[in-house]
Amino acid sequence: MHLKTLTVRGFKSFASATTFEFEPGVTAVVGPNGSGKSNVVDALAWVMGEQGAKSLRGGSMEDVIFAGTAERQPLGRASVSLTIDNSDGALPIDYTEVTISRTMFRSGGSEYTINGTKCRLLDIQELLSDSGLGREMHVIVGQGQLDQILHATPEQRRGFIEEAAGVLKHRRRRERSVRKLESMQTNLERLEDLIGEIS
Ligand code: ATP
Repeated sequence: MHLKTLTVRGFKSFASATTFEFEPGVTAVVGPNGSGKSNVVDALAWVMGEQGAKSLRGGSMEDVIFAGTAERQPLGRASVSLTIDNSDGALPIDYTEVTISRTMFRSGGSEYTINGTKCRLLDIQELLSDSGLGREMHVIVGQGQLDQILHATPEQRRGFIEEAAGVLKHRRRRERSVRKLESMQTNLERLEDLIGEIS
């Protein structure tokens, strides 16, 4: 499995559609300060499901949409597509090439697709998490993050190991189920109150 192409449009400093092609092996992105190198990495994290504005170095999620320059009007949407070579079947899906896309509208709302078919953010996160890719998999190590890992508390370190071992997905599923159970319990209690009032 390797990343083949990344296309960004209206994402941060990339107003026009821009495609990066990656070959297997090491890719280096070089350029002057402020030219958008980190924005390329942010685009990767975003399309893989990153939900934290801070992790994307912004104040709010909307900050990923091209905000305009002296020469160019702001745009109404940001979109990023990532194509992954899956000829080794590392992603649990029957395609040798997988394209995941994410679009966010300034007016609100987002769209996600896998190979052109609309899906939920959760579907993308789960597809990637089995392969060790994904937003919380520490496949992206930002500037200053190594220091953070070296100074992590034992609990945080355990979190990193759990992610690497693929436990995180199951932990998230468990948390979702517990939340559902709790809301069912509340509904049941309300129902019992109502039955008590009626009888
Ligand atoms: P350095 O080498 O200093 O780390 P860099 O090449 O990694 O820099 P980035 O941090 O990727 O640069 O890009 C910063 C640029 O992106 C800034 O010029 C900033 O104005 C621009 N930028 C960020 N968000 C947006 C946005 N929403 N709309 C337009 N431009 C943006």
